[in-house]
Order: sequence, then C-alpha cells, then structure tokens
Amino acid sequence: MVFGLSLEETAKLHGHKGPWLVLGYRAGKRARKILNPLSEHDLYCVVYVPLKTPYTCIIDGVQGSTSCTLGKQNIEIKESSADNIRIVFVKRKTSRKLEMKLKENVEEEINKLYEKYGLSKAAKWVEGEKLCNLFEEKLYD
Ligand SMILES: [Zn+2]
Repeated sequence: MVFGLSLEETAKLHGHKGPWLVLGYRAGKRARKILNPLSEHDLYCVVYVPLKTPYTCIIDGVQGSTSCTLGKQNIEIKESSADNIRIVFVKRKTSRKLEMKLKENVEEEINKLYEKYGLSKAAKWVEGEKLCNLFEEKLYD
C-alpha cells in the first residue's frame, strides 16, 4: 500500500502552494525517510504551531506527505509561539522519535521573499533550500 501525496497533490488539497505548506510537507517527508513507517498508521505526529494561518498551513503539508491525518487521529495539534514551531514524529512500532524544529531565521526569510516577490517565490525558496537550513533535527532512539 502506497501512502502519502506528492507535493503537487498536497498543494491541490490545500488550495495553494505556500511556503508554510511546503515546510510541513518537507518535514513529513524527512520523517518518513528517517523513521520509515510501515503503514499509514505507523507514524504519529504532534505539530506545535501558532493556531493561525499561515502557520497552520504546515499541518496540511504534514498530512500530505505522511498520511498522518485528523481523520485517523494520528496527528495532534498543539499551540506554540512562533519562535518554537516544531513537529515531533513518532514511529509507533519502535517508539523512535524525530523532532524537526523550525530554525530561527526561516520565518523572516519567508516574509522577506513574500513581500518582495509574492507567495510562489517564497514557496520555491522553501522547496529548494537545504533542509538543514530550515529545520534543526533531533533523533531519539
Ligand atoms: Zn496555506
């Protein structure tokens, strides 16, 4: 069984391809690579995010790439401040855990690009930037 959507499919589901959606998508994609979940039920995640758009667009990105969905109740949303945005992924089978914490300068860079060039340019930057420049990664075995 193949699960998860492509970035394009996720953007379709969400309605637009914005930088925050792409951030969530890439974090989830990374979690799938590192934790290698066996099915759409094997991964559980908690998204710590300010409860307003565009921050919450992250949630749809995560749902798209991981198939952790509200309907299956394997995604949880918790409010955080804008300087502490992070996603914790847990592989249920092994309890291995991956935390992806958004780096400090990312929001500023997104806003700068957005104001200067618009949404799609900001999204493109997030899409092409090295993941280690976007997130701080911590793996708990
Ligand atoms: Zn959005």
